[in-house]
Amino acid sequence: MDSLDAFARAKLAALDQASLRRSLSETTQLEGPWVERDGRRMLSFCCNDYLNLTTHPTVVQAALEATRRFGVGAGGSRLVTGNHPLYAALEDRLARLKGTEAACVFGSGYLANAGIIPALVGRHDLLLVDELAHACIWTGARLAGGSVLSFRHNDAAHAAQMLAGARPHHEHALILTDSVFSMDGDLAPLPALAALAEQHDAWLMTDDAHGIGVLGGGRGAVHAGDQPARVPLQMGTLSKAIGAYGGYLCASRPVIELIRTRARTFIYATGLPPGTVAAAIAALDLIAAQPDYAALPVRKARLFTSLVGLPEAVSPIVPVIIGAAPAALAASRLLAESGFLVSAIRPPTVPAGTSRLRFTFTAQHSDDAITRLAALVRAEIMVAA
Ligand SMILES: *Cc1c(COP(=O)(O)O)cnc(C)c1O
Repeated sequence: MDSLDAFARAKLAALDQASLRRSLSETTQLEGPWVERDGRRMLSFCCNDYLNLTTHPTVVQAALEATRRFGVGAGGSRLVTGNHPLYAALEDRLARLKGTEAACVFGSGYLANAGIIPALVGRHDLLLVDELAHACIWTGARLAGGSVLSFRHNDAAHAAQMLAGARPHHEHALILTDSVFSMDGDLAPLPALAALAEQHDAWLMTDDAHGIGVLGGGRGAVHAGDQPARVPLQMGTLSKAIGAYGGYLCASRPVIELIRTRARTFIYATGLPPGTVAAAIAALDLIAAQPDYAALPVRKARLFTSLVGLPEAVSPIVPVIIGAAPAALAASRLLAESGFLVSAIRPPTVPAGTSRLRFTFTAQHSDDAITRLAALVRAEIMVAA
């Protein structure tokens, strides 16, 4: 085994050298956006729990009750014995929220993309992917085995050019994009992409991981405009604003039926724990009952961008691009000294030379804390960056 350990050590040393090694820090979730790390109470501006539902008493209670009633684990794939009665309730709510005929829940967002994409397209097909799409979209696209092309970020005209050239040589075509980009916080041009998809008989699939619960009154990016964008494949996660865990696809009934019988990450993986599904149901009910609450994270992000002098936020995610990885780490440490937890995002999560601080805003961040954070960022980080 000597060569194995030597391999691992050499790889780690090279990552250390480039400031690209990652490490885990034990973090305890306290109330709202507060966390405890290294024995210190810190205010987190890097959590995706946008509505602070992970610790909401109603959500926690729902998880506890379902766990007592149905047990801790699902005990099997959903197609065998793992399809406990809570799943239907969750899928109904998701389909209603997104305005589709049906929905299918997966073990996680990553598993959803890794399973859905290869179930829909294959060897003879074309996949057109935004260059900044999330890592798990790329995983799914590569697993599909078709021709994968990437278009310039949010550039529908570039996508149109590529489609015009490549579409005739492929049986089916799938356009893939985040609806809210996870590391940049900007929104995909959904109406333009939808029109393009229709024009070329391509299928449009969006990843709404950071849109559900916070945009369009909680319904997500597809519902954020004057009219819903025409997106036949709406994928997303239950692990961010929904506060629980799991991934989903909302689509027509035949597509959902096909996914249930063909997506490998659905067939060969254990169903979600009942408590997790119950928590997601409770969270979706809270969001449906209070669409105004769903608007708070973007409002908080806008307060920050106006105070710091950045373009107005359109989602709860605001990047401050630093450039080099060591500088981004130093900026993160500087904020930590003042009690703000903001992690540095480095390659390969973002392109080389664009290491950044990624700020996320939640409903329960106080305006006062955001004002203090903004002053620090303006004085200490923007000047250096
Ligand atoms: C977080 C994220 C995922 C993965 O979702 P999980 O449920 O955490 O596996 C997928 N897509 C995007 C855009 C994400 O930000």
